[in-house]
Amino acid sequence: MTRLRTLLESLLELERPLLVALDVDGTISPIVADPDLARIPDATLSSLEALAGAPRAGLALITGRALSSLARMEQLEGIWRAVEHGGLVLAPGQAPGPRELVPERREALELFQHWVRTHARDAFIEYKPQAIAVHVRAIAAKDPARAARLLGEADELAQNLGLHVRRGKALREAEAVRHDKGSALTEIFERSGARSVFFAGDDLTDFPAIEFAAEHGIGAFVCSDEQRGAPPASAELLQSVDDTAELLAELAKRITL
Ligand SMILES: [Mg+2]
Repeated sequence: MTRLRTLLESLLELERPLLVALDVDGTISPIVADPDLARIPDATLSSLEALAGAPRAGLALITGRALSSLARMEQLEGIWRAVEHGGLVLAPGQAPGPRELVPERREALELFQHWVRTHARDAFIEYKPQAIAVHVRAIAAKDPARAARLLGEADELAQNLGLHVRRGKALREAEAVRHDKGSALTEIFERSGARSVFFAGDDLTDFPAIEFAAEHGIGAFVCSDEQRGAPPASAELLQSVDDTAELLAELAKRITL
């Protein structure tokens, strides 16, 4: 695996402290139709644990999931977490504080929720403190036209309600407050005192973070069958979740030497 080896050597040459930041679904956990059943393989969890404890390095997970949903997949210690696409950024060991929405935003989310419950009952719905995500991956496997229609309707309604629309490969998400993974990664990079960063992600929503990482280290795009469009030109390519796992395992081994 010469290509992975070259990427690994480039990672090891980055200035330290190095922040290793990773998207979760489709990057370190294989995509499954039901996001509740997704898991991070044990071998990858061991690599992450080693990276979290490595000297002059830091680890961050940056995901669209809510904190409770991420907590079902990992209980790592000493890591940064950005959940809800950057809506909430937590330093190692930091507990989330209370977050309030202004009444108009809360009402807009409630109207979106009403539409979801009446028109998108067959979709997988993620309810987050400040957003509602409509996932259509399972529907698309049986009825692509219906999946596309649902995405279009969710998109239009969210816009009409003045909510921010996040667009993923099989996802439309209505958010009360605008965030993205790029701003989350920037915040973690600055607060952690890292001198360089590696980020890997597989979806459109990861592009801002991939681009930030390319400017301050290395940004990587994880390829998949359901890929839409070209990855950012600045991105290194990883071929699959397995490829990413192999890179992290080698990095975890070498970074402590
Ligand atoms: Mg992903």
